[in-house]
Formats: sequence, structure tokens, C-alpha cells
Amino acid sequence: MPKPHSPIESRPSRTKIVATIGPASSSQTQLVALLGAGVDVFRLNMAHGGPAEQEAPLAAIRAAAQSVGRPAAVLTDLAGPKIRLGEIPGGQLVCNADDRVQFVHSSSLVPRPSSPFPLTTTYEPLLDELVVGDRIMLADGTVSLTVEEVDTDGAICRVVQSGVVRSRQGVNLPGVKLSAKALDETDRRNAVWAAKNDIDFVGLSFVRKADEVRELKALLAEHNPETQVIAKIEKPEALEHLDEIVAAADGVMVARGDLGVEIDIARVAMAQKEIIAACNRQRKPVIVATQMLDSMTHSRTPTRAEVADVSNAILDGADACMLSGETAIGEYPCEAVKMMHRIAMETERLHAFTAEDVFQNVSPLPKEEGAIALNPITESTVAAAGRIAEELGAKVVVVATASGATALSMAKNRRRVFTLGVSDSPATLRRMCLYWGVIPLAGAPIDDSAALLRYIVDLGRAEKLLTTGDRIVLIAGTGLSVTRHNMIVVHEVG
Ligand code: PEP
Repeated sequence: MPKPHSPIESRPSRTKIVATIGPASSSQTQLVALLGAGVDVFRLNMAHGGPAEQEAPLAAIRAAAQSVGRPAAVLTDLAGPKIRLGEIPGGQLVCNADDRVQFVHSSSLVPRPSSPFPLTTTYEPLLDELVVGDRIMLADGTVSLTVEEVDTDGAICRVVQSGVVRSRQGVNLPGVKLSAKALDETDRRNAVWAAKNDIDFVGLSFVRKADEVRELKALLAEHNPETQVIAKIEKPEALEHLDEIVAAADGVMVARGDLGVEIDIARVAMAQKEIIAACNRQRKPVIVATQMLDSMTHSRTPTRAEVADVSNAILDGADACMLSGETAIGEYPCEAVKMMHRIAMETERLHAFTAEDVFQNVSPLPKEEGAIALNPITESTVAAAGRIAEELGAKVVVVATASGATALSMAKNRRRVFTLGVSDSPATLRRMCLYWGVIPLAGAPIDDSAALLRYIVDLGRAEKLLTTGDRIVLIAGTGLSVTRHNMIVVHEVG
């Protein structure tokens, strides 16, 4: 019984799809089409526009979800301490190998005679923190420089890898530990806006340590306790503190765009596996992002390598795969979502299931480290319910959940059977949009197990998804101990 209320043409994939919204996808009509193609979570990137620019797409997302009668979660990424180039006269600069380029303070944009190319950045202390020998990567790592001289006027760099840089493109300093704050005033304002507007997830870019995640969580909690933090792993420092960051965050994004510049690009695939494994050990949702179907920005079909990349992210154990430029500025946003959905369906159809199979190299963290956030009663009940459901060939597992934690635990067990996450909290229903294999279901009675089962059976029969003899597994509280889910019911449709 996989789709009680889904407009997805075939049926939903277990793997969730995050789509970045931009000019190619922000109208309500396009958003409805994207939901129909299989999007679960919409992403608004605040690096490309603050609240004033995000309000209209946010309203359109809410209206689109309402019109198709299905929850959709929203993720907004804060820019965080991302350094960008300032304005370049003429908009771009061609950097030839061995050219000398000068970085200056934006207040003193005067080139030296020996260096005709003055550049500024959005991070004023940069010139105090650079030292001779540092590497500077521009424009997603396509252009690289080495610092040759630093003095009070600026830094002179030599172009090692040539290319073209444009105004406001990203600046990465691999291996350089900058003192930039995790959240500047703009990020804080944007985070408060997100919380006040019931945004489900706030992505924190360039996380370096767990305290930065905690700082954002505390800020959000002042305005909306439901808004959660997704830590974007894109710095080597984040890999060094991975387990603590995962523990502090509500979810994680493998942000491969900047990660592939900040660390050796050859390491990205293995870092992805390491990050996903850390999230699955700690029962945190994890998104794999960037260039998943990049060529579909301008082409109706992906490359074979991109198809393999999406499949492999699923096999690694990701909850969700993300589309960036493909849906934000691409020519074929709906086709990209449909393609990702089809790859997910094929991968899920063929690969071995259960957490034991998928995460065979992942040993749980020792209990004394207290890293798993979920209650052990929930964990054991859910693991047993998943096994029972598969042994009995159940059509669906039903979980009535207040916070979504039980549904998340089910997602992390990676069972073939779908989970219906039933809740009376709109925030919980939207949050479950990110959880692998979980279909959020609104409107069911959650306080009375018998009534809930009747509701599911009636719905399943009406949708022709359930028939006599089909089995349903329900995870619920007994009422004897109301705080935890501790009862498994197997129901056969009569
Ligand atoms: C990334 O770097 O992969 C990423 C998702 O972040 P952004 O799109 O903000 O660069």
C-alpha cells in the first residue's frame, strides 16, 4: 500500500527527492508539476536571495502542496561563512597561467603597477589571515592561485590553474582555518525569518564544529522549536568532527560542491560514504547533494555516470538525493526529477534491503557514547516490527508518531515495506517527507489504535491498495506506558 494520497504518477520511490527552487521552478504550476514528478522537499537557497526574494516562492510551494493534498517540506540554506569575490570591473577576469593577481581590501581598490588585476572578497579579514603558500580556489575550484606575497596592502597570488572568474563567485581556501563566524548578522536574520515562517529545515553551510550547529539550533528554538538544522558537510574540519556534528544536528547534507574544492576531489566519494555511515549510525536523515544529474541542466538525458551516482548514493544509505541547478535554472526541471525518481525505483527494486545488508560495514556506536538519539524501546520495537512485516509480507507498516522519531527509526532500518507515518502535527508530517521509505499521512485518528487501523483499511480499500487477506503492521503505544511506542499489532484485512 504505497501511496494513499500521492499524486506521483507511478508510485513514490523510497528515496526522497530534494529540488532546489529558482527561476526555472518557482511558479505554482511548475511546483505542482514537480510534486507530481516526485519531489518531497523544496530547497530555497538564501545564498541567492534573502526573505524578500524567498517569500513568493515559499507561498507558491505551500499553495502547490495544498492543491495536490500532500505535505511537502521546505529547506532553506543559509549562506554561512562562504567567501565570495566582490564585483569585478566588467563582470569577469580571465586568469592565465602564471598571471599575478592581487587581493586588496574593498576600501582600497588600487592595483599595484606589478599586478594589474585587483580582486576583493566579501570576507574583509582575509588579508590578515592569508600566509605565503596558501592555495586559493576560485569559481568552484576551476581556477587556482598560490599566495606569493602578503603585506598590509594586500596579497599577491600567482595563477596556477587558468580560467575565467566572475563577480561574486565562490572563494575556497583548502586547508586554511579561517576565523569567520558560522553565522553573520544576515544569516541570523534569515534564520529567524525561516523559523517564523515555519520552514522545516535550515541548512547551515560550511559547518566546522558542533558548537556552530548548537548556536543555530538555539537561535531557531527561540522562535520555533519545530525548525530543524541540517549541517552541510563541506569543510575538512567538519570531517574531523563528523560524529559530534552529526550528533548536534537534526540532519546532514553531503554538500559535494564545496566539499570537492575544500578537500581533494578524488576523496569525495569515500567522504560521502563516511558521512552517510555516520548519519545512519546516529539515526539522522542524510541528503546527498550537487551535480547528481548536472548534465540535465541542458539535456533531456543524464550521463551514465550520473545515473550510477544516484544509484550509488542510495546504496550508500542516503535518505534523499538533491537536485540543484537542474531544477533551479535548468531547461528540464521536471524531466530531471522524473529521471531521479526512475533511477531510485530501479535501484530500490533490485538492491538488497534491510539495514544489515545495506550498512554491513557500519557498526553501531557503542551505547556508552550515547550517540543514538532515539529511545532504545523505540529502536527495538521498530526493528522487530520491520522484521515481522517482511516475514509476513505485510503491505505496509503504520506508525502513529508525534515527533516523527519512530518513523525515522523505521527509515533507518531500511525495510522493503513502506511506512505510513501518521501524525496530527503538520510540522511532523512535513519533516517525514525527508525520511527514506516513509509516506506522511494526514487526517488519520492517532489516539485510538483500533480506529486508526479501520481508517487505514478503509482508505486502502477505497484506493484499491488493500484487499482481503492483506496484512498491516501497526506500531503503537499500549496505553500502559504512554511515553514510548511499545506495541506491535499485526492486522489481516477481513
Ligand atoms: C554544495 O556545496 O554542494 C552545496 C549544496 O552548497 P551550495 O549549493 O550552497 O553551494
